Amino acid sequence: MRATFSSLAVLAALLAAAPAPVTPATAATLVQPGSEAQQPGGYRFRVGDAVVTALTDGSTQQDIRPLMHGATPEEIDQLLARDFLVNPVEMSMNAFLVEMGERKILVDVGAGEEFGPNLAGKMRDGLAALGVKPDEITDVLITHAHMDHIGGLAYGGKPAFPKATIHLGQHDAAFFGDTKAVARTGYPEAFVKTYARTVGVYPAAQVRPFTGTAEILPGITATEHPGHTPGTAIYTLTSKGQSIHFVGDTVHVASVQLRRPAVTMSFDIDPKNARKVRETVFARFADDAALIAGPHLQFPGVGRLRKLAENSYEWVPIEYRNRAETHANH
Ligand SMILES: [Zn+2]
Repeated sequence: MRATFSSLAVLAALLAAAPAPVTPATAATLVQPGSEAQQPGGYRFRVGDAVVTALTDGSTQQDIRPLMHGATPEEIDQLLARDFLVNPVEMSMNAFLVEMGERKILVDVGAGEEFGPNLAGKMRDGLAALGVKPDEITDVLITHAHMDHIGGLAYGGKPAFPKATIHLGQHDAAFFGDTKAVARTGYPEAFVKTYARTVGVYPAAQVRPFTGTAEILPGITATEHPGHTPGTAIYTLTSKGQSIHFVGDTVHVASVQLRRPAVTMSFDIDPKNARKVRETVFARFADDAALIAGPHLQFPGVGRLRKLAENSYEWVPIEYRNRAETHANH
């Protein structure tokens, strides 16, 4: 922490340690504005020579109290209240388009039809609004094989991106592709079925799992971080000295898990490791002032972590820009 910020840091540490003085906004006192569907489109920015567009696949209302572990329902409410939120929270489902050289790459593809016809599946409209045709997508990077990240791979039982190569962690491919492996952990079988009707509809030659850490495409490194799922991946794109990390479900609810990274989620297959991954990568991202992109962070889901105290952070969204710069490939 820089000396000039030391008094702020002390204050932040005190606030993080004792959040009680903040007036809690509760369902009774906080009136949230009503919901409306958004216009298709996305939020676009550049990382070096790559153009990244955050796309929404929709948002869902989620009662997080029974899903989160390591904090009491009252503590969860209090953490939400600091950000003027109430349970159930509205969970964004974001995907990201990366245009880099000749490639058009998607990072996750939302839930598609997996949550029924009306809840999600808006990412396709966003791509269409940008003028990107499904057969122009060259690669899809899957952070992990849960339905809200792979659902959009198939519509009506057919590949949504017929020419794309699908990249995912080998340990997710092995796990979600194997009914017996899933049954052994007590994990719901529905996840295996989703995998079969999404990743499973692509020819085997178009599915390319990686193990450990690998440069899967020029300028993009993938690393498995087992915890949330056996092969959960973080993808790092680097271009001209700039980087962005696509962090998947390292964080579900920013208001809770950035302040308290020890809080885990029911869907974490290995909660101990999920927590360890979160604590390790958050510390690094905050130290590096790294740009990160998350599928469940509030749309557009891109920003940085500011350290408040040891193992406690807050979200700082990306600076908004609406001004085109002239550059080589766009
Ligand atoms: Zn998810």
